[in-house]
Amino acid sequence: MGILLYAPPDQHASVRFVTGIGPKWADALASSKFAIESVQDLLQHYPRRHLDFSEVKPIQELRVGDEVTVVGEVVKVAAPPPQSKGRPRRNFPLKVTISQGTSKITLVFFNQPWRAQQLRVGTVVAAKGKVGIFGSNKQITAPLVDVIRESEEVVKIVPIYPATAELHTAKLRTFVRAALDQFSPLDEPLPAALRMRHGLMDRTKAMNLYHFPDQMRDMYVARKRLVFDELFTLQVGLAYRKKRLARETIGISHKVEAELAGRFIESLPFELTTAQCRAVEELEQDMASSVPMNRLLQGEVGSGKTVVALYAALLAVQGGYQAAIMAPTEVLASQHYLTTTKLLEDAGGGGGGTGQLGLFGGPTVVLLTGSLPAKARREAAEKIADGSADIVIGTHALIQEGVEFSNLGFAVVDEQHRFGVHQRIALREKTGAGVTPDVLIMTATPIPRTLALTLYGDLEVSVLDELPKGRKPITTRVLEEGERSEAYDLIRSEVVAGRQAYVITPLIDDSDKLQVKSAEAEAERLARDVFPDLRVGKMHGRMRPSEKGKVMDGFRRGEIDVLISTTVVEVGVDVPNASVMLIEDADRFGLSQLHQLRGRIGRGEHASTCLLITSMTDPDEAKVARQRLAAVEGTDDGFELANKDLELRGTGTIMGARQAGFSDLKLTHLLRDMELLLAARKEAFDVIDEDPSLERHPKIRSEMEGRFADRLEWLFHS
Ligand code: ADP
Ligand code: MG
Repeated sequence: MGILLYAPPDQHASVRFVTGIGPKWADALASSKFAIESVQDLLQHYPRRHLDFSEVKPIQELRVGDEVTVVGEVVKVAAPPPQSKGRPRRNFPLKVTISQGTSKITLVFFNQPWRAQQLRVGTVVAAKGKVGIFGSNKQITAPLVDVIRESEEVVKIVPIYPATAELHTAKLRTFVRAALDQFSPLDEPLPAALRMRHGLMDRTKAMNLYHFPDQMRDMYVARKRLVFDELFTLQVGLAYRKKRLARETIGISHKVEAELAGRFIESLPFELTTAQCRAVEELEQDMASSVPMNRLLQGEVGSGKTVVALYAALLAVQGGYQAAIMAPTEVLASQHYLTTTKLLEDAGGGGGGTGQLGLFGGPTVVLLTGSLPAKARREAAEKIADGSADIVIGTHALIQEGVEFSNLGFAVVDEQHRFGVHQRIALREKTGAGVTPDVLIMTATPIPRTLALTLYGDLEVSVLDELPKGRKPITTRVLEEGERSEAYDLIRSEVVAGRQAYVITPLIDDSDKLQVKSAEAEAERLARDVFPDLRVGKMHGRMRPSEKGKVMDGFRRGEIDVLISTTVVEVGVDVPNASVMLIEDADRFGLSQLHQLRGRIGRGEHASTCLLITSMTDPDEAKVARQRLAAVEGTDDGFELANKDLELRGTGTIMGARQAGFSDLKLTHLLRDMELLLAARKEAFDVIDEDPSLERHPKIRSEMEGRFADRLEWLFHS
């Protein structure tokens, strides 16, 4: 019976069905770090490399003294002469001769009589060790030996699996071989015509050849098919969801003719950048349409996303709808609140004031966060429920129980990778009106295009790829431990000139507690020993939101000269007077993250400097670290750095572990497989266009459900 590779979990075939896998091995497989429970899991336990024997050095080319791996067939086993009572004599080695055609080499084992059982004539082995000579014969004494196979079956290329001591590579190979033999042919979900278009071999053949290629080039062709499958199933899900939302949900046709929103733009003290204008147009089109908007607004820190989002919010408000802006932290929510009220006040409306904006006394802006006193929170919730709040800004408190909007027409989710898919859904369901609000997701993370198509493939994308004019560039310098005093001198001179500084303390292995400790210690040290005459503040993740808010306000008002902080300042904090940032142990951060961090400075009219300190002691490590950091020194292009991160450290560092659900790409390399991604995406969207609920493609539908098994709600609802 054929099986589908990405079948829903309840249709998985247990590895117990594989010949040779009894309860004991099934347990070992399931409880190993590979968590292999089903035949599907086993087949997707891909080799980490292949050992190509045609590239192993021929025995005749081996020189004495070489450290080598040789492969050959056992042709002779010479056991030591038997002692009395049948025991082998000590100091007489067991000699095993292996050959490749006419050349031979001898493997020499002392005190390992059991080798005679392991290395029988006909066995093919790979032996690793140092080539020596005895008489005129080459030999390897005490080699490491892998039994490559036990029969005379001819294989040129052997897959080497990610393995453990117990689940060693030969064992896994046997299991995979057995599974393939038993479950071939696999079910084939792709239509033949589609496969033809892209030169994709059938799945069974691809799976067989990827594990057990006859020649290395088979593997590349096989890989192409398997990578296509990984990407295709994912893109089908994205296309399916997108199409379904467009068909099933009723959105709002906002009126976009310039009124409130138009006057807001006119009142701004600056011109929009070309990129902002483009984004505004794209937003207008989406919002005017009755298909619910699902758009991602991507732009570097400081590229002016907030203004664009606020414009869209006003489009909704001018038609009588409410708008919500949800930020990932309290600090950011209050900052959005301040910016919004200020921009609206400057424009002559907002905050209840009247002015040229004020169609109805200006929109009412309400802040709702978890740290508000209960009474204030209740009042905010009332205004949200009775519709007197026009623009609501808050944290995830917005999507909590007890908060009901009267008429939500537009929602902004800032920095959505901190939330994940569920919150997106929740906010959308807060609408009171039975219609689906338009949603704009904002992110400052430069996401390489390939990754964006995978992570946000169901969204339309607007990119702000241009900073407002007049921004002073940020100078970035890498310093070594010995140059630390230079950094402190610069901070001091900037503070004397009236500026402010950030010091970012090290990232410590995911340990929140240690991180806080080091931030506390560093703040104390700097305040006492380095800047006793300056006003030093500190901020970290263990402080209560209200405390953090206080510190941030103090810094914003210029009451703190040097702010020592963990990465909690990473996203979106806007203090234009800050002109220096010192980042400790910079080598521990991803390049994108460093780029995000330094985006906290260079936001005002002052030239700014970012200093990266590395304190690696090992000279080799220090060199590698310097090379990586040189990239941050060398460019202010966030996309370039994100690509480099992707190349150097994989997807995890860009999106963080929170998006783990999307990273189940086992073979795909998002940079190198760009072309396949685009092909898979196009085919997926075409299939969905033509057969939106996949009635005529039941296998593709099944695989989609399997692939999104842990995100079914996302796939099938709201
Ligand atoms: P982002 O949210 O993308 O990090 P913001 O919207 O906070 O960026 O904008 C950063 C700063 O730049 C704000 O002070 C904002 O008022 C200002 N700004 C936005 N757009 C422009 C523009 N076109 N020209 C000049 N300044 C701008
Ligand atoms: Mg709309």
